[in-house]
Amino acid sequence: MGWAIGLHGGAGDIPLTLPAERRQLREAALRHCLGIGVDALKDKKAPLDVVELVVRELENNPHFNAGRGSVLTNEGTVEMEACIMDGNTRRCGAVSGLTTVVNAISLARLVMEKTPHIYLAFDGAEKFAREQGVETVDQSHFITPENIERLKQAKEANRVQLDYTQPIQNDVKKETPSADGDSQIGTVGCVAVDNDGNLAAATSTGGFVNKMVGRIGDTPIIGAGTYANNLCAVSATGKGEAIIRSTVARDVAALMEFKGLSLKEAAAYVVEESVPRGNVGLVAVSAKGEVTMPFNTTGMFRACATEDGYSEIGIWPSVQN
Ligand code: ASP
Repeated sequence: MGWAIGLHGGAGDIPLTLPAERRQLREAALRHCLGIGVDALKDKKAPLDVVELVVRELENNPHFNAGRGSVLTNEGTVEMEACIMDGNTRRCGAVSGLTTVVNAISLARLVMEKTPHIYLAFDGAEKFAREQGVETVDQSHFITPENIERLKQAKEANRVQLDYTQPIQNDVKKETPSADGDSQIGTVGCVAVDNDGNLAAATSTGGFVNKMVGRIGDTPIIGAGTYANNLCAVSATGKGEAIIRSTVARDVAALMEFKGLSLKEAAAYVVEESVPRGNVGLVAVSAKGEVTMPFNTTGMFRACATEDGYSEIGIWPSVQN
């Protein structure tokens, strides 16, 4: 049994024409974050600490849709959400509707550790953040020029979108990619297992461009976007409404638990059979130290490593990389 780690920076209709510099920027970020996670696992850090550490790093990177890079609501505001879960104890914490918290994932962990509850949202979550003394900033910190432009384009097209190219509500046809090709930013997540089979999962997001104020996606919902137990840890990305309907993360665990499927079989079944194409990707690790990263979208920003020396960083299906 060895350690393993998987992380993602969002799944969606990522065009193969994504300019090299944009691709390389995100691949470099994935490589950097993977390195941080691997070093932490080698240093025998607990998986819960590892996933929090890696997701914080991804949140601080403006090229992903979480923390600093969070996309904007239909009112031009940010509403960030996150979830963290420990496999063996099934303790978990989640937050939604954050507007000033720099690292939503750490607040989710504090909800888990410092309250009798699992999920805090909006004013209550912001108040709790202040009580706990976590780093907060003015909301303007999160409102990047790129995301103002993304919102403008989404409003012009009258759509709620995961990115510029992918319609959410009317799956009629693929739209033309944006002029600069930099449309693809995504939710972030990390799963990890140590040598003793301890598992943890964490996911963080700004949601969809032009989402309704108050909308909550799959990311903070235990069993939908995030789940971990004693068998596996899962972090999903894609269209939140579809992921919630299919209880994606919990279904992977349930197929292992009740049907005896392997991690790869369970994750592949959920991605291929339970969720309509173009809607989901996930990263998952098992207590045995396996890792899998299936998706049914065009691509998923992803990276993984295992103790036996396997490592992968990719965007599109492996054959095309
Ligand atoms: N699943 C996220 C949401 O629906 C979006 C994403 O994965 O990029 O909020």
